[in-house]
Amino acid sequence: MSELDIVEIERLEEKTPTVKSLFFDWEKSFQPGQFVMIWIPRLDEVPMAISKKELDFITVKKRGEATRTLHQMEVGDKIGIRGPFGNSYSLEDDPILVVTGGCGGASLIEAVFEAERSGKHVISCVGAETERELLFREEFSRLTDMKIATDDGSAGRKGLATELAVEVIDEENIGSVLTCGPEVMMKKVVEMCSERNIPVQASLERYMKCGIGICDSCTIDGKQVCIDGPVFRGEELVEMKEFGKLERKKDGRLKEI
Ligand SMILES: Cc1cc2nc3c(=O)[nH]c(=O)nc-3n(C[C@H](O)[C@H](O)[C@H](O)COP(=O)(O)OP(=O)(O)OC[C@H]3O[C@@H](n4cnc5c(N)ncnc54)[C@H](O)[C@@H]3O)c2cc1C
Repeated sequence: MSELDIVEIERLEEKTPTVKSLFFDWEKSFQPGQFVMIWIPRLDEVPMAISKKELDFITVKKRGEATRTLHQMEVGDKIGIRGPFGNSYSLEDDPILVVTGGCGGASLIEAVFEAERSGKHVISCVGAETERELLFREEFSRLTDMKIATDDGSAGRKGLATELAVEVIDEENIGSVLTCGPEVMMKKVVEMCSERNIPVQASLERYMKCGIGICDSCTIDGKQVCIDGPVFRGEELVEMKEFGKLERKKDGRLKEI
């Protein structure tokens, strides 16, 4: 097992009504797209993407007991961290198109910071249910050429991030694509890129317990998301029968997404 580091929460940022960033000082370095296992004392250990802006931070969407508890934490509270784990996004030819929806920005924002540091041009298509749920709006609009889609039309285009993405792909000479968000969205992005021979990488979320390739909970078509991913290339994804269709629940059984 990898070592557990205990860190103290130094700052909290409410990003949307259901998403919060928790900032702390962690001694380890990591690559964009990698994840950590966050230990919540006396409760659970859950995977989260990790990013850095002066301090290290995780960005948590409130879902069940573990994420609700993280949302209730205050400055000075302690959490444990194991990692970093998994592979990372590789920043390839620009313009890079980033397609994200829901909480996918939590995984992609560090890649956007890295693209800015290396002088790459990024176009982003960011989707959310409503304007209030747009994640990292300030960061995406400052660091990328940002296009917005909301389900209810309260900001940007009324519709899906994938509808914006296909227009951008057809109008701009996109060099490569990164995507993270709902799997149905990522499947569409991968399909449109594969049809046009544009390199695409997508970060998958699967139920995960150990994070280090032992328990096999996060398996998808024989690959373990924790060590073979979480970032997979378009060529691998188009071969996966479960991608966008089936996921394993806590008890290991496959269910439709
Ligand atoms: C590599 C990776 C990176 C992730 N990064 C982030 C992130 O940056 N921000 C974020 O908000 N969420 C992220 N997640 C998802 C996050 O781990 C789950 O939302 C969280 O574990 C839910 O726990 P819960 O007790 O609050 O909810 P539960 O009520 O237990 O479950 C709610 C939903 O979360 C899923 N889930 C539950 N436990 C896990 C688990 N151990 N591993 C994966 N999924 C789980 C369940 O399938 C269910 O659909 C990531 C998942 C993976 C695999």
